[in-house]
Amino acid sequence: MALRKIAQIGHPVLRQVARPLTREELLSPYVQQLIDDLIATMHDADGAGLAAPQIYEGVRVCAIEVGQNPRYPYKPKIPLTVLVNPVLTPLTTRTFSNFEGCLSVPNLRGRVDRFCELRVQAWDQKGNDLDFVTRGISAGTFQHEVDHLDATLFIDRVSDTRSLCTWQEFERQHREGFIQEVRSIVAEFGS
Ligand code: ZN
Repeated sequence: MALRKIAQIGHPVLRQVARPLTREELLSPYVQQLIDDLIATMHDADGAGLAAPQIYEGVRVCAIEVGQNPRYPYKPKIPLTVLVNPVLTPLTTRTFSNFEGCLSVPNLRGRVDRFCELRVQAWDQKGNDLDFVTRGISAGTFQHEVDHLDATLFIDRVSDTRSLCTWQEFERQHREGFIQEVRSIVAEFGS
């Protein structure tokens, strides 16, 4: 297991659509190591998720985990989940306004509309089928990570650029209001 460097906005790897993996490739030592490194790097950086292009690997793999996260202390918990070749299907047209940040976009946060409810289909790290529904704030996290596989960063989806702020100004100006919004989303969707 090794920590990898995290690609920063401006590097072309973040703007290339990642390619799917075959099951044989997934089970190869190279890709298994890549996934172990992806998880370790996510943990080290206190990320809620990390996608393979963010560690300079253009394949359709991402990891998500939310525990006690110092970057996002208000987020509902998500157990460690590895998605390989994920497909997200919105189950509603309803959206909510999420305040996002990204390890590849230093010191910037902004508001992004995300679907409230999604079906997630993918393989796990060992190639087992995953098929589940995610809702609310957690659904936003899944959409953010899978966007990375399609070369999309959250800033591309910020509809009102006046919502952009530094992490310090988020804490000062927006945190309390957003936590109230999160509470009402969690109350409705349970996550
Ligand atoms: Zn990101």
